[in-house]
Amino acid sequence: MDRGAFWCFAARAVGTSEGYTAVSMRTYPTSRAILEHNRRFIPGGMFSLNREIEPAIVFASADGAILRDEEGNRYIDYHAAFGPFLLGHNHPVVSHAVQAALHDGSSLFGASTTRLEGKLAELICGSIPFADSCQVLNSGSEATYQALRVARAHTGRDHIIVMQGGYNGWHNDVACNVMTPLADIGPRQSPGEYPVVPLGAGIPAAHRALVHVINFNDLDSVRYVCERYPVAGLITEPILQNIGIVTPQPGYLEGLRQLANELGFVLIFDEVKTGFRHALGGYSTLAGVTPDLAVYGKALANGYPIAALAGKRELMDLFSHPDPRKRVLLAGTYNGHPVPVAAAIAVIETLRDGEIYARLEALGQLTDRYFAAMARKAGRPLTLSRQGSAFCIYFMDHAPVDWHDIATHHDFAADLAMRRAIIEKGIFPFPLPTKQWSISSAHNGEMIAQTFEAIGQALASAPAQA
Ligand code: PMP
Repeated sequence: MDRGAFWCFAARAVGTSEGYTAVSMRTYPTSRAILEHNRRFIPGGMFSLNREIEPAIVFASADGAILRDEEGNRYIDYHAAFGPFLLGHNHPVVSHAVQAALHDGSSLFGASTTRLEGKLAELICGSIPFADSCQVLNSGSEATYQALRVARAHTGRDHIIVMQGGYNGWHNDVACNVMTPLADIGPRQSPGEYPVVPLGAGIPAAHRALVHVINFNDLDSVRYVCERYPVAGLITEPILQNIGIVTPQPGYLEGLRQLANELGFVLIFDEVKTGFRHALGGYSTLAGVTPDLAVYGKALANGYPIAALAGKRELMDLFSHPDPRKRVLLAGTYNGHPVPVAAAIAVIETLRDGEIYARLEALGQLTDRYFAAMARKAGRPLTLSRQGSAFCIYFMDHAPVDWHDIATHHDFAADLAMRRAIIEKGIFPFPLPTKQWSISSAHNGEMIAQTFEAIGQALASAPAQA
């Protein structure tokens, strides 16, 4: 198994690509030299260790749907930096808004509020039907952290429920169980919960004791946990998009809503990946299910660092409760920085008329068609799971319902080999099995055609294993 990738606490589940396509004909001498230089000053050589990849390509520039690496190779980008680039890299309207913010005297005043903050908050609340108010932070992790704090303050309870296969950030409450090897969590069970497997060291046992991991699409386990522990909140991506695209079964999100009403926990949708990518109001508006709180990031500012926590007034007002003992602390030197705020305003204004979503859905449907044609010839079970502009190809004969399903049926080695083979052909998905593929409005039909041609060739040169 390759050294590294943060996600590869899943190492044993992911396996290796041995027996498939010979890996990396290309060499990346400049990239390797940069990485080696950076490793002298940065542990692991980079500022976010979940970005570690093999081959160790270092990218130099990006425009629209195209990336270029330090050797001058060109790639069609499907990674989108883990999802933010809904409009493609360096989108002119967003770049213009950012430049304007740099030159119009805006700064970080660190006192009181600004007109710009109010404008963004109004746009966010205008986009998300259930959002009475919102707060803006710098990252998705900060926002999920605050959401859970609000849930605890509101209910007076400490326990939380998270999903096996979901990712909600790097903080102690949620940094556990994404692509956990089944050997560590055991077989699928319902009702029930799975052992908490932290994503890294330094997470206190006392925190882990407050966290309950259940499977997505399993309502019985929610009740099971709530009957045994005082649960403040359940946090879930409404579509699991950190293990590809795992969509909710009919009635699942509605069931979560009903259980939250009945059992008194706060229902938190983590829309950091789904929000703004699938609809202005987030996936909850498409599903017709209203959470109590929801968290947004990524596509909200098309690559600039911002996140939002939005929700119902009685919960959000805990941030400004007149009694300091009941108030939830929210502070941050950089919250509401004018550069990402200007970017987010430009993004929402660009998305408002719905044309971009129509274009993205058309590209998504083209993806379905090219995939179907490619899969017919592939001679192995393949399934495309897609929501709008995000998709994942599973090497199995059905769309997965949860992580157990993927870990049991998906051919991780073939997925990894395919990703590496097409990187050689100038297509860049993140080279880790089951990571989501993202289309932007800067992609076009020709790029999608080229992509599936390359995937078809990669699979033809790597016959399915018995
Ligand atoms: N929630 C989800 C669903 C995410 O995918 C991520 C990041 N991949 C986060 C939260 C954390 O966001 P950030 O990396 O901005 O802290």
